[in-house]
Amino acid sequence: MMSTTTNKPDDKKLTPRSEDFSAWYNELVLRAQLADYSPVRGCIVFRPEGFAIWENIVAELDRRIKRTGARNAYFPLFIPQSFIRKEASHVEGFSPELAVVTHGGGKELEEPLIVRPTSETIINHMFAQWIKSYRDLPLMVNQWCNVVRWEMRTRMFLRTTEFLWQEGHTAHATREEAEAETLAMLEVYRAFCEEFLAIPLIVGRKSAAERFAGAVETYAIESLMRDGRALQCGTSHFLGQNFARAFEIRYLDENNQLQYVWQTSWGVSTRLLGALIMVHGDDQGLRLPPTVAPVQVVIVPIWRKPAERDDVLGSARAALAALTQAGVRCKLDDREGITPGFKFNEWEMRGVPLRIEIGPRDVAASEATLARRDAPGPTSKLKGALSRLPETVSALLDAMQAGLYREAKGAMDAATVEAPDFESLCRQMAGEGGGGLANVYWCGSAACETKIREQTKATCRAIPLAQTVAPRPCVVCGQTANERAFFAKAY
Ligand SMILES: [Zn+2]
Repeated sequence: MMSTTTNKPDDKKLTPRSEDFSAWYNELVLRAQLADYSPVRGCIVFRPEGFAIWENIVAELDRRIKRTGARNAYFPLFIPQSFIRKEASHVEGFSPELAVVTHGGGKELEEPLIVRPTSETIINHMFAQWIKSYRDLPLMVNQWCNVVRWEMRTRMFLRTTEFLWQEGHTAHATREEAEAETLAMLEVYRAFCEEFLAIPLIVGRKSAAERFAGAVETYAIESLMRDGRALQCGTSHFLGQNFARAFEIRYLDENNQLQYVWQTSWGVSTRLLGALIMVHGDDQGLRLPPTVAPVQVVIVPIWRKPAERDDVLGSARAALAALTQAGVRCKLDDREGITPGFKFNEWEMRGVPLRIEIGPRDVAASEATLARRDAPGPTSKLKGALSRLPETVSALLDAMQAGLYREAKGAMDAATVEAPDFESLCRQMAGEGGGGLANVYWCGSAACETKIREQTKATCRAIPLAQTVAPRPCVVCGQTANERAFFAKAY
């Protein structure tokens, strides 16, 4: 596949989101230099701009995961084929997506190796050897790694054959403890996405059809993209004793009785980059929440006459030093031979939250001009005293973080509709705006879920955890429904 990225000035605007959301997305990923197509079909190359965002996600989420007591470990990329076959629904779920290594060192292998699609099997094989007594529990490990799932239809960050993620795996003495851990990690993911990525979510349980292969219960955080389609951003699974029985993970309890452990697994992936783009991006490019932005502030010095150059650059460098000293991730764009307008467009495309312009008149007045990425245009520019830049910038970044969340939440709420009957559900999913989130009464039966999927392409995204609703007729079959669920067309 040919790459369409270029380092030349961009003379072309992005396709507007309203015109073709999918074209907008692909153009943005390439033009903001987040990723590029790779020579291997279905795989992508993370460019430094994109990888720096992922590194910030990893750093913050890793801190939050470790706070729960889990520790990082690393397990092999290759898994013996027989391992995948040990848990029946696991093998059934993953078989079509497996990449299999049959040869190594020029010879056919005695047993083919699977390139990990997820690591439950190999980790549980090791857990069986490490867990002997109740004193070894709980055992909580997390792994940051790549996984491979052979995808037929791929899209950058959202669905790629190889992707990066973290997968947590835990073993507990009791069912209650494992269930509590599953929900605790769901809450870690919710707080991380809403606080750090400014992405509003719906949170809940998955239907049986959407459950992880081998899980007793799957919980997920889901967000709504600006084209009205939902994106699963993270999952936390209660595995019960399914893998414990398949891999013989038993421990001696306090009464010297052998017991199977209870388990969980949970993960988020580089999909989150796709969510950031599709929730916050606009027609000018990416918009990054300050917390996750590799560059939070770019300083652009502006001068015309050579005589102005030294003063302007001097002030710009002083501003850079003061902001860096205050802990702001700041960059000085002092490239020459490039117009300020071009620089503005480039940093807007890359989603840098705040731009500081310093020209001769600003220097004379001991101030700077500040332009917010979330409020583009000359009228929204502000003036700030150079002596107080760190305080001013810090307050603006906080306001932008909250503002991006508020804006995205408003968009999600506006696209969330209660569909009282099947006809209105069909109408909503077929309508403009991509369908959005439909909040419906559903009896829980697979037949009704299938009918919804076949007629509207919407799937059950989440069944909210705490429900205080009176029973009503199911939107499909009319029988009693005790719960509401969110349906949407999904990525
Ligand atoms: Zn029904």
